[in-house]
Amino acid sequence: MSRVLGRKDLDELKDYIISLYSKFIPVKALPPELGGEGEARRAEILEGELRGLGLEVERVDAPDDRVPDGYRPNIAALLRGKQGNKTLWIVAHMDTVPEGDISLWKYPPYKVTIEGDYIYGRGVEDDGQAIVLALGAAKYLVEKGEKPRINLGIAFVSDEEVGSRYGLLYLLKKDIFTRYSEENYFLVPDAGSPDGSKVIVAEKHILHFKVTVRGKQAHASMPHAGLNAHRLGMIFNLGLDEVIHSTLREHDDLYDPPVSTCEPTRKEENVGNINTIPGTDIVYWDCRILPKRDIKDVVETLKSYAYYFSSRTGAKVEIDILGYDDAGEPTSLDNVFVKNFLASIEETRGVKPKAIGIGGGTVARYLRKQGYPAIVWMTCDETAHQPNEYTRLSYILADIETVLYYLLRKA
Ligand SMILES: [Zn+2]
Repeated sequence: MSRVLGRKDLDELKDYIISLYSKFIPVKALPPELGGEGEARRAEILEGELRGLGLEVERVDAPDDRVPDGYRPNIAALLRGKQGNKTLWIVAHMDTVPEGDISLWKYPPYKVTIEGDYIYGRGVEDDGQAIVLALGAAKYLVEKGEKPRINLGIAFVSDEEVGSRYGLLYLLKKDIFTRYSEENYFLVPDAGSPDGSKVIVAEKHILHFKVTVRGKQAHASMPHAGLNAHRLGMIFNLGLDEVIHSTLREHDDLYDPPVSTCEPTRKEENVGNINTIPGTDIVYWDCRILPKRDIKDVVETLKSYAYYFSSRTGAKVEIDILGYDDAGEPTSLDNVFVKNFLASIEETRGVKPKAIGIGGGTVARYLRKQGYPAIVWMTCDETAHQPNEYTRLSYILADIETVLYYLLRKA
């Protein structure tokens, strides 16, 4: 396997990673929706690091009255490469979710604890790992005076955990990336696998809807006087389950799982007492649809089945679409960046990269919708949002190696 980093480089980077984590993990960066004051303090530290390395740094803060500073910070930084018209952007989000039940943590979540190869703390993986990966790669290039083949861009963004409106979406609205170069490639290290082989290139459409079945409330001893919305709701939702799965028949091996998924999830309480026949029944569904299907087709199927069921039973079935998010076009495996980055993984790791699509949503979908090639990749055990969140120094060093190999030899 090819190597960029020598033993001494690895030792120096290891110290740098630990010192970085120790600077920013103790500075909480919780979004206001999760009871925090935003990312401003953490951003100051990270901006200082980027400036210290001599990168071109720009702040693109999004106004937000809900936090004490009145804005959500976003930072774009650039290290110029030999071909100034192309940039590999590493996108890292600065916000985290809360620590949750503190009694489940074996170490304090906001103090970075090193145990051999392991690093513990809230946000060390999600998404502090992307932060130290980006800074580690930049530091190596700057200190060695090695010019990458293309620019290295670093985007530290806010507000990923609650929707990206004040983060990546704001940068896209301001058209930040095209200001730096004509061709922009995106690496989003925010999910991955322990051997570094998993590369996410596509996502599914997301559809959330609510089913309300209205019957007629009555005393439970007099069912003929009412129309039991709970029974009809069960029949309707089970019927819908059949109908929707029989129409969403596509199978695509790129995706994990390789089919569209549609699951009834939340159930609202109907009546508070046992001896009443409920007049209303409410169930929520979560669907993840393969992008070759149009969300509109699925919505039409829901509505036509609701009409059919209502007309046959006398119940009134309403479908409310609560939200949908188009997946955008998958990132093409023929894209020159994707090809070369996958080759870099293979040549530095000795594993065959596996390009997949997932049902979960990441910020990469917003990039894809703008037509940018975007891959989600890193080496991790997927401990995000859990108590005892951790990552491993060896994972981060291996990822830095792969990114540098791409920038110096493959781009
Ligand atoms: Zn994340």
